[in-house]
Amino acid sequence: MYVVALTGGIGSGKSTVAERLAGRGAVVIDADAIVHELQRTGSPLLDQLVERFGPGILRPDGSLDRAALAAIAFSDEQARNDLNDLVHPAVRTEMVRRVLAESGTDHVVVLDIPLLTDRATHGASAVVVVDLPVDEAVRRLVGSRRMDEADARSRIAAQITREERLALADHVVDNSGDLADLDRQLDALWSDLQARAVSG
Ligand code: ATP
Repeated sequence: MYVVALTGGIGSGKSTVAERLAGRGAVVIDADAIVHELQRTGSPLLDQLVERFGPGILRPDGSLDRAALAAIAFSDEQARNDLNDLVHPAVRTEMVRRVLAESGTDHVVVLDIPLLTDRATHGASAVVVVDLPVDEAVRRLVGSRRMDEADARSRIAAQITREERLALADHVVDNSGDLADLDRQLDALWSDLQARAVSG
């Protein structure tokens, strides 16, 4: 097994890269999907979030109103820190559990962690950063997701900077080109990762 953490700014193309690595045979463990599972209606984590942020983060049916929680977290640094302190340990535990299930295999395991901020994380041997200039990420988010430009920029500003993220990287995937260009880079990256997974 060889474990890498995959990260990148909002709109950089992490999901696109994760999907294309999965297509080449990677086992992708998606931190956001785990967060959604851990925050399901009636879960202990959701109870803790309501205790901290109030019942306004719930929909009438008792499920999490993600937009309401995101609005609180994006506008207030203390709230963002508190949210991270509640959510991150639970996600880490679940990711580690899923990684351990792959030990002894020759799989490349990709931990898709959008909000990666440090290298000592989840037992990954290397960090892959999907890199894109901020203006191009905003263009793609506005174009394909119909996200409001100011909203896209404020979400990007709430994350670590492009430079801070690049400083974490062992491998950089430059996603400023087209998808064919991306695939050429992923072919090379995949050969490298697979060789490491096979050699243990
Ligand atoms: P988020 O952080 O919001 O989840 P992400 O980093 O996972 O975003 P994607 O969803 O993979 O990013 O990509 C953002 C948008 O850019 C998508 O609409 C995707 O189809 C598009 N995209 C990704 N790579 C390219 C590319 N090389 N050329 C053009 N468009 C691209």
